[in-house]
Amino acid sequence: MAKDLSNQLWHGVARKEIPWFPTIDSDSCIGCDLCYLSCGREVFEKDEENRIEIVERPYNCMVGCSTCKTVCPVESISFPGRDTIWKVEKEHRIFGIVRKEAKEKREKIQMQRARAEAEAKIAKLETRMKVEVAGQFGEKLFLSKLNKLLEAKPFDIVNFKMEVPTLKGHLEGAPGFMSFEVTSEKFEEVTKFMSTLRTLIKENELVLVNESRIS
Ligand code: SF4
Ligand code: SF4
Repeated sequence: MAKDLSNQLWHGVARKEIPWFPTIDSDSCIGCDLCYLSCGREVFEKDEENRIEIVERPYNCMVGCSTCKTVCPVESISFPGRDTIWKVEKEHRIFGIVRKEAKEKREKIQMQRARAEAEAKIAKLETRMKVEVAGQFGEKLFLSKLNKLLEAKPFDIVNFKMEVPTLKGHLEGAPGFMSFEVTSEKFEEVTKFMSTLRTLIKENELVLVNESRIS
């Protein structure tokens, strides 16, 4: 369904009160479709014989635009004089509304920029790291130290997995394998915590097999 923009306001003025729209000279139009393609407001359609362009929705036209006239290769498109718009501007005293709309536009753009900057900053933060550790975990001693390390910190450990060799191997002290993710739901940088964690792993004579960023 074609869009209907005719009920919109132009800086507070009803669109239908502003006689700004293109007129096509049907004798000279060669039906090249350039105006149709150049207009993003669905003003034009082809005539019934599919020969020339016609102005089907005049009040969809953007007040002040004249792109279609500029691109028409045979100068078939005309517009009212620019004083048509100046008259509307003066009669309806639109400048108070224009200033308010401009202020709102600037605020919106500033907010969008601030949001984009904040998102880019968050995207750069290392808030989730995967850690893989191997060695003898010493009767859960390492795990309780790890748990203590998290106390009062804005981090958590998730997706924790621990693999031990066979029961016999475990009892005989064969090394096990552990993997987990250090995460911060509050978008805190995990880098500092990773350095403390590395020290703990070393102090417990374990091997840090891998640490990799997840987000
Ligand atoms: S002036 Fe602009 S908005 Fe109006 S019909 Fe032409 S291209 Fe479309
Ligand atoms: S650009 Fe000009 S010649 Fe081409 S279809 Fe439109 S009015 Fe006709």
